[in-house]
Amino acid sequence: MKVGIFGGTFDPIHNGHLRAAEEVRELFFLDTVYFIPVYIPPHKRDKFIADTEDRANMIRLAIKGNRFMRFSDIEIKRGGISYSYDTVCLFEKKYGDVYFIIGIDAFSEIDTWHRYREIFFHTNFIVMIRPVGLKKMGIEIFPDAIKGEMKQIDQNIFQHTSGRYIYLQNITQLDISSTKIRELAKENRSIRYLLPEKVENYINRRGLYRG
Ligand code: ATP
Ligand code: MG
Repeated sequence: MKVGIFGGTFDPIHNGHLRAAEEVRELFFLDTVYFIPVYIPPHKRDKFIADTEDRANMIRLAIKGNRFMRFSDIEIKRGGISYSYDTVCLFEKKYGDVYFIIGIDAFSEIDTWHRYREIFFHTNFIVMIRPVGLKKMGIEIFPDAIKGEMKQIDQNIFQHTSGRYIYLQNITQLDISSTKIRELAKENRSIRYLLPEKVENYINRRGLYRG
């Protein structure tokens, strides 16, 4: 089994996430992509985020009908601050071949993560290029702290000293972010077509993100 794990706040999940997961799943022949909403994000601890149950429900609605996509409540059930390291280790034990799907914006800060050096011993990474900030390429995508542990083996493929791979992957660039959706909703503006209709309806029904 080759499984992808796609973690995030998903506040809310949107078409950028969904299309990215779909493309990566197909390109890397993943059997399943698990969407894993964070319970308490280490980096957004002081920020207000929507209820866990709402974020989870929106994911469930969004991926319904796609047999390659699953929802995982592993971080919710574990409680406390959610560390990707713990999640990765559990998936590795269960499935062996794990691919951590992540946007370059999040990956470029990996040196601030809990046990970030060890995480590379337990999972491969698929780093998706996003239209935010500078477009870093090649070895420049790695924070200085871990550059020395990476060997470039092809234009977009790197190998960690552990033997695990890091793939830099171009995907259809959808300039959609949850932040943008929350801002629009707050101003009572349309969020239509940025996320699945069922999720849009859920947000309206529950009155999420309103000013
Ligand atoms: P926020 O604006 O609140 O930070 P977000 O849209 O970045 O939300 P997150 O839940 O923070 O969404 O992101 C989860 C993962 O999805 C991260 O790895 C992020 O890089 C990736 N991601 C988010 N939006 C896109 C997009 N439009 N295309 C590809 N990847 C994305
Ligand atoms: Mg983000």
